Amino acid sequence: MTTPRPERKITAIRIEVGRSRAGGRMAPHGPGRGVARDVSYGFAVATASVATIVMLPTEPVGSIPRPAELIAGVQDFRAGRISQLELSALYDAAVQDTIQRLEATGSPVITDGEQAKHSFATYSIYGLDNLSPDGVPIPFADGHIRHFPRLTSGPFRYKTPADVYLEAAQRYAHVPVKQAVVSASALSLLYPQGGIRGYSREEYLDALIAEQEGEIRRCLEMGAHVVQMDFTEGRLSIKLDPSRRLLQSFIDLNNLVLERFSAEERKRIGVHTCPGADRHSTHSADVDYAELLPSLFALQATNFCVQLASEPDRKRVLRMIREHVRDGQRIFVGVIDPLDPRVETPEEVRDRVLEASDYIAPDRLGTTDDCGFAPFSDDTSRTRETAFAKIRARVAGTALASRLLGLE
Ligand SMILES: [Zn+2]
Repeated sequence: MTTPRPERKITAIRIEVGRSRAGGRMAPHGPGRGVARDVSYGFAVATASVATIVMLPTEPVGSIPRPAELIAGVQDFRAGRISQLELSALYDAAVQDTIQRLEATGSPVITDGEQAKHSFATYSIYGLDNLSPDGVPIPFADGHIRHFPRLTSGPFRYKTPADVYLEAAQRYAHVPVKQAVVSASALSLLYPQGGIRGYSREEYLDALIAEQEGEIRRCLEMGAHVVQMDFTEGRLSIKLDPSRRLLQSFIDLNNLVLERFSAEERKRIGVHTCPGADRHSTHSADVDYAELLPSLFALQATNFCVQLASEPDRKRVLRMIREHVRDGQRIFVGVIDPLDPRVETPEEVRDRVLEASDYIAPDRLGTTDDCGFAPFSDDTSRTRETAFAKIRARVAGTALASRLLGLE
C-alpha cells in the first residue's frame, strides 16, 4: 500500500456540535455544546506547556453492557410495572454514567455505550408495528440463535434513527462522540424471501437507503467524530453463501449508501467488521478472513475497525490487510478481545500495536476493540467493570506504543 504524508502535526478544527434537527426532540444541550472536535486522524492533547502528545487514534466499537437496574427496568416496562417516563429516566442515567466512565478511561473518542439501543442491528426499527419476530436466524457457535425481524408490510421507515441517540449522548460528553449505525446490508435481511404483496423489494431497498443516508448525514452534521457502519454480516454472509455473491450484493448495497456522500464526508465514515460477539460466542469466526478482506476494502469508507486480537494468526491477517487496503483508508486494529474475560495488560496492547505497525504505517493505523462489549442489550456475559478495564488497557497500551513509534 502506498503511504501518504505522515500526519504528525495535528490541527484541531472547531466544529459547532449539538445542533438540533429541525424540531429537535431533546432538551437543551449541556456540557457537550461547543466542544472543540478534533476531526483529524491523529489525536492531540495540548497541555498547559507547549508540549503536545500525539497518540495513534483509538476508539471503541460501540456497546457497553447495560447496568443491572436498566435491564430490570426494561423487563418492568414490558410487564407494565413502570411507565415510559420512568424507563426513559433509566436510559438517560445509563447513558450519563457510561459516558462519564468512558471518559474516565482516557479514551479520546467515546460512544454512548449503546445503552438505549435494543441491539446494534435493531435500534432504528425496534417498536415498528410492521415487523414480525420470525425473520432470518443468526446461529452462534455455542448453539444459541438470534433472529432478525421480518418486514410484514410497507412502507418502511426508521422509528428511532441513530442521530436521536447521538443527540442524547452529546448532552453529557466532553470529548468527541462516535456513532455506530447498522448497515443497509444487515437491514436488507428484513425483507422476506417470498416478497410482500404490494411492496416490492426495490421499493423497500430505496426506502432503506434513503433512511440510512438521512441518519448518517444528520450524525455528521451534528458533529459525530465518525459514523461507523456495523458490517458484522459481511463475514457471516460467506457462511450463508460460499459463492460470495451475497457478500458482493452487501458491498454493492452499502456502496449505494456511501456514494451519496462526498469524499470529504466519507473521511468521517467508517466500517466495523467482526465475527459477531454475543454471550461468549461468535457467528462466523470459522470463516477465513481471506474470504472477506479483499471485498471489505471495496467499501467506500475511510476508517475500518477490524477485529484482530482474537484471530489465531494475526500476522497472516495483517499481511492480507496490507495487500488489500486502498489508498486513504485507515485501519483501526482490534487490540482487545471483548469475549475473553481476562483483562489485557497495557504491555500486551502495546505489543499488538507494534506488531500491526510492521504491516501498516503509523499514519494509517489506529486501535479499537475487536467488537462491542454487548451488541445485544440483554447480554450480561461480560460486566461493565471488565469492559471499562479493558478500554483503559487499550488506551494505555496505545499510548505506550505511540511513544515507541516516535509519535510523541
Ligand atoms: Zn462487532
